[in-house]
Amino acid sequence: MKFGTKTIHAGIEPDPSTGAIMTPIFQTSTYVQRSPGDNDGYEYSRSHNPTRTALQKNLAALENGKHGLCFSSGMGAIDAIIKLLNPGDEVISSNDLYGGSYRIFTKIFQRYGIKFHFISMEKPGNIEEYINEKTKLIWAETPTNPMMSIIDIEGIGVVAKKHKILFGVDNTFATPFLQNPLDLGADIVMHSVTKYLGGHSDVVMGAIIVNDDHLAKQLAFIQNACGAVPGPQDCFLVLRGIKTLHIRMERHCQNGRAIAEFLRKQSAVDKVYWPGFEDHPNHDIAKKQMRDFGGMISFTLKGNTIEYANKVLESLHFFSLAESLGGVESLCGHPATMTHASIPKEEREKVGLVDSLIRLSVGIEDVDDLRDDLAAALSKLA
Ligand code: PLP
Repeated sequence: MKFGTKTIHAGIEPDPSTGAIMTPIFQTSTYVQRSPGDNDGYEYSRSHNPTRTALQKNLAALENGKHGLCFSSGMGAIDAIIKLLNPGDEVISSNDLYGGSYRIFTKIFQRYGIKFHFISMEKPGNIEEYINEKTKLIWAETPTNPMMSIIDIEGIGVVAKKHKILFGVDNTFATPFLQNPLDLGADIVMHSVTKYLGGHSDVVMGAIIVNDDHLAKQLAFIQNACGAVPGPQDCFLVLRGIKTLHIRMERHCQNGRAIAEFLRKQSAVDKVYWPGFEDHPNHDIAKKQMRDFGGMISFTLKGNTIEYANKVLESLHFFSLAESLGGVESLCGHPATMTHASIPKEEREKVGLVDSLIRLSVGIEDVDDLRDDLAAALSKLA
């Protein structure tokens, strides 16, 4: 099955009792058993729910994986992955990553005796010097949030396999439409489904996709024991959203390219971060592992101050100033004070996350309106 067919059909069966083409919302907490333990695989909705099952099958198919697990949020999914580890274990993570991931690693799991190394992963060889017998997980985002750096999934997969270390990739920015980390050597793919997969800014959800049966069992155990499960209404909304993922992503990519190229020509703009530029440091890797370059862009302003950034952000009209990304509507954000505020200034500036950095999630509106909006906002700096 090709990708655009999977989005609509994978894991989805007409409802056997009515023929309903849309997966019903099984709004139930429990299921009647014929006699104790004699059931159809459904006992209680923290463990399993049929609407969730359909979505999990669909997501597994989109990532070319065997097992899908949906969580109440992306953070719920990351929480379950780190709970695979034990006190004393070590994790090597990319140093440019979503602020909430940095926060759960440093403020929660470090207290439980897990050690995190945040390093530049743009060259897979950099990782080797941080690996020791306690290293149990390599964690990467690519493209990274918000600097749009590209990490070589295949290259890191080789290092992880050599040292028998689990390798997890947060694939939120790329989506399975652009990149499939399991095919490139990752063991775990994670998504903030809240973003492009849901696609309509109306659901908070997370997902994990794996191939290994034992790993899937461990994660399902953690999920059931800890309880971070999504409700069936949200699963229904995501199933509906995913049906247009491929069409939405095509337009996100088209608009992303047009806006990135436009921004580069603006006199008020200093740097533009977008992996589709030929002079992006890892453009060749991006071209190899991604099918296109997506609709996420970051840029800085000449006159690198929060006040400059605020002036632009407050003047934009179609780019709404909001947390999150990946919806049909364009959003803008100020990572230094919003999504990445939990990262100390010295740390964030090391990767280029400076005070004037603005992150755009380019939506699927008519691109002329988006360009005009940005031109008008940037003209306020003249
Ligand atoms: N990973 C990335 C790359 C994100 O951007 C986010 C949220 O912004 C998350 C994980 C966390 O996901 P959620 O907000 O669904 O908990």
